[in-house]
Amino acid sequence: MNTLKRMDPRRPFTVTAQGLKRITLGATGVAGAMEFNVPLAAHGEQPKPRRTTAVPQRVLLVAAHADRGALDDHARQTLAGAALIADANTEVVLLVFGEFTHDAAALGADKLIVLPMFERRTFAPLDELNALAACVAAYAPAHVFLPDNATGDGDLGRRYAAAANASVATHVVEIDAAHVAVYIRANTALAARPLPDVVLLAPDAVEAKLPFSGAGERVVWRFDGDAVASKSAVRDLGVDEIDAAQLALEEADFIVSAGNGVSDVPAFERLAATLGAAIGASRVAVDDGKFTRDKQIGATGKTVEASVYIAFGISGAVQHLQGIKDCRHVIAVNLDASAPIAKRANLTVIADARETIAALNEAVAAARSARGTGAALLNSTAVAEGVLA
Ligand SMILES: Cc1cc2nc3c(=O)[nH]c(=O)nc-3n(C[C@H](O)[C@H](O)[C@H](O)COP(=O)(O)OP(=O)(O)OC[C@H]3O[C@@H](n4cnc5c(N)ncnc54)[C@H](O)[C@@H]3O)c2cc1C
Repeated sequence: MNTLKRMDPRRPFTVTAQGLKRITLGATGVAGAMEFNVPLAAHGEQPKPRRTTAVPQRVLLVAAHADRGALDDHARQTLAGAALIADANTEVVLLVFGEFTHDAAALGADKLIVLPMFERRTFAPLDELNALAACVAAYAPAHVFLPDNATGDGDLGRRYAAAANASVATHVVEIDAAHVAVYIRANTALAARPLPDVVLLAPDAVEAKLPFSGAGERVVWRFDGDAVASKSAVRDLGVDEIDAAQLALEEADFIVSAGNGVSDVPAFERLAATLGAAIGASRVAVDDGKFTRDKQIGATGKTVEASVYIAFGISGAVQHLQGIKDCRHVIAVNLDASAPIAKRANLTVIADARETIAALNEAVAAARSARGTGAALLNSTAVAEGVLA
């Protein structure tokens, strides 16, 4: 579990169930507390109470793309933001573009609509716009919320606001039931306005952890894709696979990284090529001349945002962790269970790096010969997770 504290020095507050949590000179205080008649459930304790069981009279709609069946942190924060400002008579409807296999109730949604045909590799902005507009027409939400990201949702929100002639606030960093605020003047001042029709929320403005759950009812929504399919001016030419080694580390979605605990560098590089992953390294590994300086990840190296980051033989010094704070799944392979990286990692494998790398190389090679090269490459993350599990 990620226990690393992150703080953007320019944004010393987040929206939580208790209101705005402000951080002043190391102390935390609460301003403008929101009212919830539910106790804060501790981690892993009894199920959380339902936010509301009242008959809904009003809807807040949250729309977001899923990535491999799940919502990322930013999308979950956006959903939590809507759930936190919903009153007892308001239901939160979640519209997911792409497959979604997670528990929507736990994320605060009362209703869930999944449109699996819009998977992330497909570029269909106008069809997605039509789908969102159809959902708005069906539910007449008071407000529509999307994560303001560069991976589809931010664009969709802007397109929708323009098409519907709706009021919109982008890069929203502060929100409650009455207002939103955004930074102005190079982030030195906040500008506020009443809640607009469309809210595009900045990352880390809201804490995704909720003290309650939603109803989580899955709705089979008869969205007739063909009927609304646009005579699109946009043609999807598909996704071009490129060699991960050519990719800037900052853009890589899958990174294998080597530290002082990696002795067999050629085997490690072979694994990266086999998995289709970009290569990263700790400063010690770079200082030792095992990797070039541009591979260094951390405070004095690159900051990366991979979905999967596998750290082989890296202790997890604070300077290294700084560079991987935005990675989604961190897997550590280390002989030392008490290494700091284990606190940051979602999964820690207590094992020798050389043996694990060899086992992964074998497993991927076996999968490749069994399924054919392309399939093996596409499934390499799953194979890696399978071997490590
Ligand atoms: C100002 C400053 C800036 C810095 N900037 C950066 C930066 O940008 N990036 C960065 O990475 N560091 C940076 N550092 C250095 C940082 O403090 C650490 O020294 C460095 O990250 C340690 O690298 P490491 O984890 O690879 O090596 P070590 O600290 O030596 O750790 C090696 C790890 O590998 C494990 N291990 C050993 N053998 C094996 C094996 N056979 N199999 C599996 N595991 C094994 C060990 O248990 C240990 O946890 C900076 C330091 C300073 C002072």
